[in-house]
Amino acid sequence: MAFKTLDDLTDIAGKRTLVRVDLNVPMDGDKVTDTTRIERVLPTIRELSDKGAKVILLAHFGRPKGERVASMSLAPVAPAVSSLLGKNVSFADDCIGDAAAAAIGALSNGDVLLLENTRYHKGEEKNDPEFAKALAANGDIYINDAFSAAHRAHGSTEGLARLLPAYAGRTMQAELEALGSALGKPVRPVLAVVGGAKVSSKIDLLENLVSRVDMLVIGGGMANTFLAAKGVDVGKSLCEHDLAGTANKIMAAAETANCEIVLPVDAVVATEFKAGAQNETVALDAIPSDGMILDVGAASIETVKSKIDTARTLVWNGPLGAFEIAPFDKATVAAAKHAADNTKAGKLNSVAGGGDTVAALNHAGAADSFSYVSTAGGAFLEWLEGKELPGVKALEN
Ligand code: AMP
Repeated sequence: MAFKTLDDLTDIAGKRTLVRVDLNVPMDGDKVTDTTRIERVLPTIRELSDKGAKVILLAHFGRPKGERVASMSLAPVAPAVSSLLGKNVSFADDCIGDAAAAAIGALSNGDVLLLENTRYHKGEEKNDPEFAKALAANGDIYINDAFSAAHRAHGSTEGLARLLPAYAGRTMQAELEALGSALGKPVRPVLAVVGGAKVSSKIDLLENLVSRVDMLVIGGGMANTFLAAKGVDVGKSLCEHDLAGTANKIMAAAETANCEIVLPVDAVVATEFKAGAQNETVALDAIPSDGMILDVGAASIETVKSKIDTARTLVWNGPLGAFEIAPFDKATVAAAKHAADNTKAGKLNSVAGGGDTVAALNHAGAADSFSYVSTAGGAFLEWLEGKELPGVKALEN
């Protein structure tokens, strides 16, 4: 491992430990409506608190752009963390300066304190060295447990890591280990399943994957652009015809890299984009001129399942069809369940994440059986694109 973890920390009793966490949770008024992100950081907080550290949480909330926007205060999040942790979490209404110093000064060993939104200061997003110094003044040790914010070089994710002894928290560690096992040093063959609406948002991702994986299944709306580039008449389907050249380039790169590209061989088409719309499964040369492809067909599902059976490692991003509206969720659900079964049987290491993928796997009831599901959006996608994440880089020894 190129970075230090909590295992490398000894004798932290009484140490002021600045922990960057992701508490950017969905709220309805003062109530947290989904506690997933809070739950993910509890192991690190508990472990540090149990070892007697003074645990000081740093987080952003929303996009206040350097201003104190009251609706983006972290104050209502502190009680939510407290109730899930089963331990009091105090709150300071600034992350630097006198308010923070006073609250930290009042901490006893094992206490937990949440500091106000780091993005209330312009220096956070600018990664201003002075702001990072002001943060560092309040700590002896820095721990980053927010993989989902690691694609941003901000004061609390990057700058601070360069000023204090820096460690990965348990959630960051789990994420990096899972991602490493999928694309770093994976057990081959490696299969990537990429779906979703558009090629345009995933060009870098596709280009990176064809050079790293053995098989690439392309589904969802983006498959239409590839099919059209190969001369298939996709009717009224969502399709980026102007990206035919890009699709051809990706297919050529795949051939050079010995990566097998697997496109749909049949399609579920409808004339309306709505739940329960009348639909039929057709071969690719029989797509009606007024029809829209909303899912891959039964024969394509069988192909995807057979590729999953061949693979030892799976990386998944994006649904295979318009999974939010039944019955166009069929392929996504079938493939996700199959991957989940193979994972449970110990035959597959399955890692998924990014955007709608978590919702799609939850919808399929498959998320819990995957080896790892990342809740990080942008950071997971940038990692799939092969980019270096500044927050991770700064942790490396
Ligand atoms: P993305 O955010 O790029 O992963 O795209 C996810 C979205 O793609 C979901 O909202 C799906 O409904 C949509 N999608 C997937 N397949 C299709 C399709 N064949 N036609 C239209 N939209 C689709």
